[in-house]
Amino acid sequence: MEISTKQTDVLIIGAGPTGLSLACQLIRYDIDFIIIDKSGGVTDYSKALGVHARTLEIYEQLDIAEKAVSQGTIAGKVRMLVGAKVRGEVDLSHMGQGLSQYPYMLVLEQSKNERLLYDYMQAHGKDVLWQTELESFLQTDAMVTAQVKTASGESITIEAKYLVGCDGPKSLVRHALGLGFEGSTFERLFYVADVQIDWSFPHNALHVCLARSSGMAFFPMSGEKRYRIVGVFPEDFNKDEGETLYEEIEQRIKDESQIDLNISHVNWFSTYKVHTRHVEKFSSGRCFLAGDSAHVHTPAGGQGMNTGIQDAYNLAWKLAFVLQGKADTKILDSYNQERLKNAKHLVQSTDRMFNLVSSSGWLLKFMRTVVMPALAQYIINLKVVRNSFFPFISQIGISYRDSALSKHDGNEEFTIKAGDRMPYFLVDGASIYDKLREPKFHLLAFTYNVQTASNEIESDYVNMLDYQVLPLSPDVAKTFGTDKPFTVLLRPDNYIGFISPKTSLDEVEIYLKQVIGCS
Ligand SMILES: Cc1cc2nc3c(=O)[nH]c(=O)nc-3n(C[C@H](O)[C@H](O)[C@H](O)COP(=O)(O)OP(=O)(O)OC[C@H]3O[C@@H](n4cnc5c(N)ncnc54)[C@H](O)[C@@H]3O)c2cc1C
Repeated sequence: MEISTKQTDVLIIGAGPTGLSLACQLIRYDIDFIIIDKSGGVTDYSKALGVHARTLEIYEQLDIAEKAVSQGTIAGKVRMLVGAKVRGEVDLSHMGQGLSQYPYMLVLEQSKNERLLYDYMQAHGKDVLWQTELESFLQTDAMVTAQVKTASGESITIEAKYLVGCDGPKSLVRHALGLGFEGSTFERLFYVADVQIDWSFPHNALHVCLARSSGMAFFPMSGEKRYRIVGVFPEDFNKDEGETLYEEIEQRIKDESQIDLNISHVNWFSTYKVHTRHVEKFSSGRCFLAGDSAHVHTPAGGQGMNTGIQDAYNLAWKLAFVLQGKADTKILDSYNQERLKNAKHLVQSTDRMFNLVSSSGWLLKFMRTVVMPALAQYIINLKVVRNSFFPFISQIGISYRDSALSKHDGNEEFTIKAGDRMPYFLVDGASIYDKLREPKFHLLAFTYNVQTASNEIESDYVNMLDYQVLPLSPDVAKTFGTDKPFTVLLRPDNYIGFISPKTSLDEVEIYLKQVIGCS
């Protein structure tokens, strides 16, 4: 039997949030791709709940941020309970004020995120090849050849210039590339349940039970009295994943929280062991890894889905520019450089957060049940904490200062450096991000006399760069740490390529030629 062959530029394996995000981003750049998934459609399970500011900034470019916000619930408050009594309350609604257009965490189930991304794809005439499984692949210097099995059992060959494994934690792509996935597995068993709860607490807060043997959290979900409960069994609980009945979970919730509650309408529950690992390298030749195929960690901070979406966002523009002949293939190396460093940091920080909420050591127990509830609001209100905690948790603080794509000459006098995300501020009352939606580099000249500035850059690089002259307002001067005119070159993912006090255009040309490899 003859095996049919398809050709494409990018073959995406897996249509979870990471693969779907990559597909949506490639649509923005008009890049040809095929995306396959062995399952039958987007997930029905709620899985990840937390959507952070950086993800919403990315959604904004797909025009789905507003829809996401309208379908979700803003996590405005954390109510801390010890032995069913409220011991502290933290108002999070202004946490990220002035740092992002989305100064909060949105609670929106993974299933709804996937649906929004999938709808975007379909609205742009693209679809996932569902029930289509990657079986094997080989790569040469020129291309990747993959064997996949379709829903009808037919084997087809797909030839692609690049392959991206967004195929989750058990990634066949990672295994086939022989890339190590070092780390550890927590011994304790987690549980998660989506339920309806009747109790005396209002449905306006994330409730955290700071129990002695561990912690447990109740996330308000959209729908009356709907909550996601996440917790961990004690150390002496000796059952494994899949062996635990729902009744045992409910009993544990009641015993541990000591709250008078009635649980009903259980939509979904699961138990799982938490792995904390990252891949040794995010790419090998023409193949890349993104999302859970490259890193897994504890659910503390709700970072998993968001990180996968950012991996895809980081990779998409680089693949697009290389495929369109606008950049040298060397920029693809920066994907591993930037995202591996981030994954290492993520694994360490989520481990630390997890230990604080689940450790049985006396000091952490004391911190959890006594110190934290009493001081949390005070600590959160400290400017220094707000200015570091929100950027960390929301992922807007991720920076690529060490990247080969960050050119530092001349940025000494600025507080914002090459490699940082473009800070958020208002221009004429609207978010700066409203001006940064085109899938291009953005050259921004901040000056006092906007009318007289020239537009001479438009000529040579018009297909990859847009140029805007913007007012050097007191807000901009404070954000960047200078009141003299300056220029910022932003990559298409809105990270700063360089920032310079010079306003001549020579530097742009040097950056694009030497760093990006434009011919
Ligand atoms: C209970 C739970 C709660 C969580 N809570 C949060 C949270 O609050 N916040 C957060 O950010 N993250 C959370 N996460 C993590 C989050 O769900 C994952 O990080 C996210 O799903 C990763 O997305 P992904 O697209 O990389 O991988 P996945 O969602 O695993 O998608 C991989 C896809 O690849 C497909 N696939 C695999 N192998 C093949 C193959 N050979 N051929 C074709 N297709 C294949 C699979 O069918 C699947 O659809 C949670 C996870 C769980 C389980």
